[in-house]
This record gives sequence, structure tokens and C-alpha cells, in this order.
Amino acid sequence: MIPLTIRMQSQDNVAIVANHGGLPAGTVLPDGLCLCDAVPQGHKVALVDIPANGAVLRYGIAIGYALKDIPAGSWVQERLLQMPSARELNNLPIATVKPEPLPPLEGYTFEGYRNADGSVGTRNILAITTTVQCVSGVVEFAVERIKAELLPKFPHVDDVVGLEHTYGCGVAIDADGAEIPIRTLRNISLNPNFGGEVMVVSLGCEKLQPERLMPPGAIPINDQRGEALDVVCLQDDSHVGFMSMIGSIMKTAEQHLQRLNQRRRETVPASELVVGVQCGGSDAFSGVTANPAVGYCTDLLVRAGASVMFSEVTEVRDGIDQLTSRATTPEVAEAMIREMAWYDAYLARGRADRSANTTPGNKKGGLSNIVEKAMGSIVKSGSAPISGVLSPGEKLQQKGLIYAATPASDFICGTLQLAAGMNLHVFTTGRGTPYGLAEVPVIKVATRTDLARRWHDLMDVNAGTIADGTQTIEEVGMELFQLMLDVASGRKKTWAEHWKLHNALVLFNPAPVT
Ligand code: CA
Repeated sequence: MIPLTIRMQSQDNVAIVANHGGLPAGTVLPDGLCLCDAVPQGHKVALVDIPANGAVLRYGIAIGYALKDIPAGSWVQERLLQMPSARELNNLPIATVKPEPLPPLEGYTFEGYRNADGSVGTRNILAITTTVQCVSGVVEFAVERIKAELLPKFPHVDDVVGLEHTYGCGVAIDADGAEIPIRTLRNISLNPNFGGEVMVVSLGCEKLQPERLMPPGAIPINDQRGEALDVVCLQDDSHVGFMSMIGSIMKTAEQHLQRLNQRRRETVPASELVVGVQCGGSDAFSGVTANPAVGYCTDLLVRAGASVMFSEVTEVRDGIDQLTSRATTPEVAEAMIREMAWYDAYLARGRADRSANTTPGNKKGGLSNIVEKAMGSIVKSGSAPISGVLSPGEKLQQKGLIYAATPASDFICGTLQLAAGMNLHVFTTGRGTPYGLAEVPVIKVATRTDLARRWHDLMDVNAGTIADGTQTIEEVGMELFQLMLDVASGRKKTWAEHWKLHNALVLFNPAPVT
């Protein structure tokens, strides 16, 4: 076995071990350095003597300071590092980087469902919106009946999904922050994959009344449907017995299915893709293989005129200076700082900070702390200028590279990107997660070949080949781009779709419950 280590930048004084199974003590690296400790795969080895208090550099930045002398060849473990404090949010570089405009990428298309509001869906799904958790059992029952009895009559409709959640009642609905879960749910209902066919199941007595969830004008006008909001209210006097509720839901669903069944795919430019990227179950390879490949693909998408959202506040917080400098305008940079400051305050209310992010699995995978994790996470954003910022739950209205502020929690981030209007989701993982959504296809990218081999029927792309030296970042990025066009067109299904792996929607509710 040839010892293989990966150094990200020339000034780095650590490298990670790439070999599967790690390297034993006594291994001599090709440059002559002898390992004085066994170093697990993905973990860092000191390339030079690092004195106590000296900076440990990876990605060209200090990911920590040595708590004692670390001799060259040592395993640089998490417990040897003092984490740097977070960058202050003042005196940041504002829109200072003016990258050369990326050359347009033309001629790429996919087959999508064009909606009345101009958006494009990648799937044709009936979504049943719920105002409150109380109705979810009833909706689940109805969805099973709809799938069994109605869906076979509408062959052009892919699926029926109940938009269940834990919000809607028992909440301080007028408190600061309550608008976030409410607009999230509203905007998810308007996701391009649902064709504007909004129907709502309500209990009746809940705090989140249908008119508050979907005020007049919230749903774009549709000639066939008219302007009225379709609501099935379970407490309605007309309902006598459970089956009458199920009957009402099915009758309403059938009207929407009839209209959805008329949708047909048409050739649209790749610019109609709205891609949400995130990572979960990260390891030290995330920032070496999968996320750089996604970053290359992000650049391709931006060049093709598409929209790409990257998110996860705690995983970009330590690179805020990189983001504010890449903003297209001072307003975009200020919006980014505003979102970071809001999240700092949100975490501080729970006496936590960004360091609460890293998991035991992240650390086992070689990530010492959130600074190191963030540097690897940010590269998903590629190199394009950042042209817009979304607050949690807001709907995206523009093209280009967008920072959509969300928690890093996989389920909450995915839920908020759905609300923003994503029609395709890209998810990178090193430790491995079977994550999937019922509402949009999720393409999963493995950071290591070992994971891709073991989870061969869960991972859609293996970026581990980059660490193995058999593919370049550009090659994997292009492979991902082509796969995105195939998946968006319905020509290919993701593994999560194949197995119907559907994580729950999890609304971000920073407001109190009652
Ligand atoms: Ca995540």
C-alpha cells in the first residue's frame, strides 16, 4: 500500500491520511516523513513540528492552535487543538472580490413541467397541505386510499404527498420568529413540483387558520382552478363519521389530480433548475472530494443560468469573510451579515454557539471542530459571485448563486430549501446517511469510495475517486451535472426515490410554544 496524504494548500502544516484503514505508526511517507503515531483515515498528520500555541493550518487557515508541542509525524487529534473564536461581524471585506465572469454554458436542457407562474417542476406530485399536526393521521389514511384507488387513474401524476409537520397549534403564533414556520409551510405548498394545485386539510379550531397560512393572493392565479382556496375542514358540520372526512379529502384530491394529470414534460433550458445543496454526516473528505465536485457543478449551473442555493449557517460562519467578499453588492454582503448575527443571537439564547454543530461521527471522520468542517462545507458554493440572500422560509425569486440561510440540520435545511422553491436537491455525505425527500429528488454524493462501495444502492455518485486519484474534481462535477439533468427529466431515479426513503418535513420554529 502506497501511503497517500492530501494537503489542501501549500501553506498547510497538516495533511489528511487518505488510505482506507489509515496508516500505522512507523509508516514512511513518500517525502520521507515518518509517522510517530497510527493515523486513522481522514485524520490529520503534522507535516512539520508545530510548537505549543502555534497555528494548525488546513485550507490555508488556522483551524486551531496547538495546546502543546506537536512533533512532525504526529496524529493531530481534536484534543490537541484549541478552537479559534468566531470571526467578528464587523470590518468584514464587503464585495471586494470581483471574479472574472464565468463564460456562459449554453445548450444544456432537461424535460420539466412548466407551471403557470413560470417555475418548472421536475416531478408531478399532488401535495396535500395541512394546517396542523392534529390532522396528520387522517391525511395519512387518505393518502394511502388515494394512492391505491385514485392514482392508477391518473398515470401522468407521480405521487401523492401529505405535507405533515408538527406546527399549527399550541404555539405563540404572533411571537417574533413565528412567521418563519408559517411562510415555510406556505412556500412549500407552492413548490414547483406541485403544479400550483394547492389543497389544504384543516382541523378547524387550530391557531394556524387556512386563511392565515394561505392569504388571498398567495396562490398564483390559475385559469382552470380559479382563486378560491380548497380547504377540507374536519370539524365541518357536514362531516358525520371518519369516512365522510376521508371521502371529502378524496373528492377534493381527485379534482386536483385531474388537472395535474394534464401536465406534460417539455424541453426547458438548464437555467430552470433550482438546486439546493447541503451536506450531512460530513467527514474530512467532504471538503476534499464531494464538496469540491459539487462546487465545480455549482459553477456549471450558474454558468448555465440556473439557481443554486447553499445554506447551513453554522457551517459557513467561520468563512463569513470569504462570503461577504464574494457578494455582488454591499447589500448582499450586509444581508449575509444580518443572517449570521441573527443566528449568533439565536444560539446565544440557548447559551450555545457554532461549536455545538460537530457530531461524534464528524470527529471520528477526522473533523476536529466546526472551523475545519466549515472550510470543507463552504466549497460547495464554488467560485461564482453570491448574488442574493434568503431568510429562512422565504421563496427564491432570482437566478444565480444564492445564500439561503438555514440551520445545518439536514431535515430543517432541506425543508427550508423546499420552501425556497428547489426542484432538485444535492446532498454530500462522508459518514453516510440514507436521507431522502418525498417532494423533490435527492442526489446523494459519497465522499469516499469505501462508503460508495458499501452503500452501493444508496449513493448516487462516488466522489471518493478524487481521493483515489482515478477521477478529477472536474470529471466528477461534470458527471454530477449530467446526472442532475437526467434526474430532473425523470429519465433516472435517485436511490432514495427507488427505495422511497422520505424524511419528515421539519419546520424551523424559533418562536415559543405554549
Ligand atoms: Ca446539513
